[in-house]
Amino acid sequence: MSETAQQRNEQARRSAQVAIERLHAEPTGLVRYESHGRVLIIGDQPAQWLAARLRTPLHAEVLWLGGEEEPGVPSTPLAGRRLQLSGHLGAFRVELGEPGSHNHQVLQADLVIDLGAAAQIESDIPPPGYWHFGVEPQDLDAATMALDGMVGTFEKPRYFDYDASICAHARSGQPGCSQCIDACPADAIISIGESVEVNPNLCQGGGACASVCPPCGTPTRPRRIWPSACARCCTLI
Ligand code: SF4
Repeated sequence: MSETAQQRNEQARRSAQVAIERLHAEPTGLVRYESHGRVLIIGDQPAQWLAARLRTPLHAEVLWLGGEEEPGVPSTPLAGRRLQLSGHLGAFRVELGEPGSHNHQVLQADLVIDLGAAAQIESDIPPPGYWHFGVEPQDLDAATMALDGMVGTFEKPRYFDYDASICAHARSGQPGCSQCIDACPADAIISIGESVEVNPNLCQGGGACASVCPPCGTPTRPRRIWPSACARCCTLI
């Protein structure tokens, strides 16, 4: 992301934060996650150590970033390949290398513990099931605690109700508004041509989208164009 785009996002998120505090979220449904306990731990020796410590129903695999590999724990070496992590609790996907290349590989996991120096997911609100920890003993204890009870079926409210017919994102190939995309701290909203798409598994109801969406207006200065891109706004009518 360019520095200008990053500054624009930070400004959008700051503005949204001010407005969010006045919003009240009404769930519009439920989102379900299914975790079978497959844990991917990204790192080197501390990752091996943590993986060996986990017990059934958790099953750990290490994505090995470097150093001497120790036997006894299932590991996949990064081996200099590009790493792309996406997904959420119960459905993480790790792509290693370039698609089509001889060493391209895809790993899947329900939960991800990232012990790398830099987080693989940098969202202000990371997806459920992903944690970035340090490698000190207390960090590894915290990682173990985070995984406790993370097997089974989980539900959370669905917070949005997007209406593409009033969205000003783009028309006839002309780019328009992208305020919700810039403001979302969970990076849950993407552009899909003339409209935007909200990933319900990543959306955690922060409300930044509703607070910056022009058709929605704001709680204190509602505009005439109502029914909104976000259910939060509807609760304010
Ligand atoms: S902020 Fe509102 S109008 Fe703008 S792209 Fe998002 S949903 Fe559409």
